[in-house]
Amino acid sequence: MGFALGSVRQAGRLCRAVQAEIDPGALAKKDRSPVTVADFGSQALICRTLREAFPDDPIIGEEDAAVLHGPDQAPMLARVTEHVAKLRPGVDSEQVCEWIDYGGAKDYTSRFWTLDPIDGTKGFLRGGQYAIALALILDGQVAAAVLGCPNLGPTLDADRGDGSLFVALKGHGTWSLPLLGEGEPVPVKVSGQTDCAFIRFCESVEAAHSSHGDAARLATELKIQAAPARLDSQAKYAVVARGEAEAYLRLPRDQVYREKIWDHAAGVLVVTEAGGRVTDIAGGDLDFSQGHQLEKNRGVVATNTPVHDSLLKAIGDLGIGAS
Ligand code: AMP
Ligand code: MG
Repeated sequence: MGFALGSVRQAGRLCRAVQAEIDPGALAKKDRSPVTVADFGSQALICRTLREAFPDDPIIGEEDAAVLHGPDQAPMLARVTEHVAKLRPGVDSEQVCEWIDYGGAKDYTSRFWTLDPIDGTKGFLRGGQYAIALALILDGQVAAAVLGCPNLGPTLDADRGDGSLFVALKGHGTWSLPLLGEGEPVPVKVSGQTDCAFIRFCESVEAAHSSHGDAARLATELKIQAAPARLDSQAKYAVVARGEAEAYLRLPRDQVYREKIWDHAAGVLVVTEAGGRVTDIAGGDLDFSQGHQLEKNRGVVATNTPVHDSLLKAIGDLGIGAS
C-alpha cells in the first residue's frame, strides 16, 4: 500500500499548491479553472504511480483527458503539465494526457482501482473540505482505501495543519496520519454513542446532493439535538470514522440519480474498518460490482453501527426516498 499512500500524498501536495494560487476574485468570477487543473493533475500523478506498481490493473477514474485536447484547451493543459512536472520532473503534455487516461476504465472487473482525484470540487473552490479518494476493489468488495483530506485538521474545529490521511485495509482496521508532515499512523475508531438523541450527523453542503429537508425531518423524528455538520466530499466518512459524528446521511433527491463508485468506495472502507456500518437507505450493502455507478443502491447511510438500525427504521417510517 506504500505506493498508493505515496501517490495520494503527492496529489495532495499538488492540490494544495493549486489552491494556494487561487486569487480571491476567481470565485466571484465563477472561474472553475483551478479545480480543473488540480483534478487532472491529481489523476495524472496517482494513475502514473498505480500503473508503475500494477501495470495490468484497470483504474476507473472520474476524469477523462479528452476535454484537454480541445483547440482552446492548450493553456489549461500547459497549467496542468506545469504542476505535474513539479512533482514528476521532465513530464510533457502528451504524457500527462496519457497518464490521465490510464484512469479511463469503465467496466467492472474482478480487480480494479477507483479514483476520485478531487472529490468535493465545490469545497475545493471555497477553501472548504475536499478529498482525494483511492480504493482497490476485489470481487466487488472494497479491499483497501486511501483517503486524503488536505483541509481536515486533527479535529473538525482545529486548524487544517498538514491535512489528514486515512488508510484502511479490509480485515485490519483504519489508521489516520498527517497528509503531508511527519507522524505515526494512529488507529481510528467510531463513536460508541448508542442514543440517537445525542448523535451528530454529517451531510453535504450542497442541498442538490442530499435532501437537507428529509434529514431535518429525520432529526425531529429521532429527537436529534445537535445541528448537522455540513461538509463537502468524503471527509464526511472520515469524520464518522474518527468518532466526531455518529452518522453520514446522503438522502436521495430524486428516483433517477445513481451514486458514483468513486464518491464512496474509499470512504466506505474507512468507516467500516473503524467499526462503523454503511448501507443504502433501504439497508442494502453498497454493490461495487455494477460498473462506475452504484446501480443497485439509492442514497447512503454510514454510521458508528449502534444507531444504524434506528436511522434506517426512521427513514422507512417517514417514507424518505420513496418518491
Ligand atoms: P458532496 O461533496 O458530498 O456534496 O458530494 C460531491 C459529489 O456529489 C460529486 O463528486 C458528484 O459526483 C456527486 N453528485 C452530483 N450530483 C449529485 C446528486 N444529484 N445526488 C448525489 N450526488 C451527486
Ligand atoms: Mg466526487
